[in-house]
Amino acid sequence: MFDLLHLKPEVKDKPDARSLAPEHPERGCAIEFRDVTFAYSPERPVLKGISFSVPAGSTLAVVGPTGSGKSTLMRLLFRFYEVGGGAIRVDGMDIRDLTQDSLRRQMAVVPQDTVLFNDTIAYNIEYGAPGAPRVDVERAAEAAEIHKSILTFPKQYDTVVGERGLKLSGGEKQRVAIARAILKNPAIMLLDEATSALDTATERSIQGSLSRVCQGRTTVSIAHRLSTIVGADQIIVLQDGLIVERGSHGSLLEQGGLYAEMWHRQLEAEEEARTGAGAKEDS
Ligand code: ATP
Repeated sequence: MFDLLHLKPEVKDKPDARSLAPEHPERGCAIEFRDVTFAYSPERPVLKGISFSVPAGSTLAVVGPTGSGKSTLMRLLFRFYEVGGGAIRVDGMDIRDLTQDSLRRQMAVVPQDTVLFNDTIAYNIEYGAPGAPRVDVERAAEAAEIHKSILTFPKQYDTVVGERGLKLSGGEKQRVAIARAILKNPAIMLLDEATSALDTATERSIQGSLSRVCQGRTTVSIAHRLSTIVGADQIIVLQDGLIVERGSHGSLLEQGGLYAEMWHRQLEAEEEARTGAGAKEDS
């Protein structure tokens, strides 16, 4: 415990660090990666010169095989680590010149797996913006389409959830994460799509809530199911720390490269799952 407390943070604010304070967070912030390189350990580069721009209010989807560097890219944007080379800019400012606090205040993450605290559902949502009034918590829950379910819980917003409380389903947990993000009202939404499959109807309805929430904000999403990013303004395909393809869904399919291959493989897998399920139902 004491060892942990004595650890020095690797990422430090500069003495003259500026605050990132967009006047209209709901319109998003521009993001730029310019020739970004990064390695967790010197002998193994993970990102090898990544450049892209995401205009304010647009969406970028990052796809690629496992271990290609997708999550690392998000961690760097969040400034959990400093870039090895190159620069990341938000609204034209190098993130190394910004306070970490102000940078992170403008970003909300909807993670793969949402951690629930053993506390009330209201507390779990309010965690997105500690101290937010109950009326805002409820409004966020409504936007994330979980409000009606909460009203059916034994003590409604005061129902304890998590480990020793009411167990929430995978879909409900994701909605808690979305409500937290809405409450935070960030300029940048970071979505890390869950790999564990929800049922198709739940997934579709969550996608609907997410796209409403992300409307107009700058959104970066890591996608595993390509069907969720067909409408992204820009898609980049990472492989071994390099961008190997970029473009819209349509243009990437036309290129007939890695993305097209991943897309066709997923269609086949879905088709197989469907016919498999159909065969089971028939028998
Ligand atoms: P996935 O789709 O499986 O989540 P990813 O594309 O997000 O993969 P990253 O998590 O960014 O991949 O990992 C990229 C590379 O960096 C991998 O080779 C991984 O082993 C390595 N890596 C990730 N995190 C760390 C860490 N904390 N320390 C050392 N190496 C790491």
